[in-house]
Amino acid sequence: MSTGQKIGLLGGTFDPPHWGHLWLAELARQQLGLDKVLFLPVGQPPHKVGREITAVSHRIQLVSLAIETNPNFVLDTTDCARPAPHSTVTLLPLLAQAYPEATFWLLLGGDSLRDLPTWTDPARLITQCRLAVLPRPEAIIEWERLATAVPGIKTAVDWLSGPTLSLSATAIRAWLREGHRATYLLPTAVADYITQHQLYQAKTG
Ligand code: ATP
Repeated sequence: MSTGQKIGLLGGTFDPPHWGHLWLAELARQQLGLDKVLFLPVGQPPHKVGREITAVSHRIQLVSLAIETNPNFVLDTTDCARPAPHSTVTLLPLLAQAYPEATFWLLLGGDSLRDLPTWTDPARLITQCRLAVLPRPEAIIEWERLATAVPGIKTAVDWLSGPTLSLSATAIRAWLREGHRATYLLPTAVADYITQHQLYQAKTG
């Protein structure tokens, strides 16, 4: 356990993890001077109910392979190891216990910022951490609507600036289901694991 650290939190389904996640984490690490970024695979995200999600054991493996070459990136299973519901607002106090003196930034793509009103108690969430957001070209933020739904949001965000990647796990899953390989869309070790375990294939029969 260490004190006084600046820690980035990247929660996600990571189904699968890809360069967009790693780029978001690295940009935040550089621009906010973070000591480390915790990658937190989510068990069953409350706002993605209804979609079939790959077993958490595979997603944990995929994340560890994705981050294995970067000592500043750390896998943290606090979220997926606890019983549902897996909301970020109840996760933050657990992380604050593990890192008592740390300051937290929740790292988000622009789509997650746009969708924040669908999360559990977002107004309380932004009292627990700051948000570091990298725009996603396809996600348009309607600020007035967002600020009405989440009071305080306008001053809770630190914007990350740099090139953006229009890449999503949804697009990668669709690509794989069509029978393509995901080479160059995600780290080689992740692509190899996907091939080896035949993940994201079209269902037959
Ligand atoms: P899906 O397409 O399955 O919804 P995703 O690619 O958006 O998945 P998640 O695991 O849901 O990935 O995302 C975790 C976090 O990473 C979210 O805040 C999301 O906005 C962010 N993120 C994912 N891809 C990118 C990207 N290309 N650029 C910036 N942020 C991203």
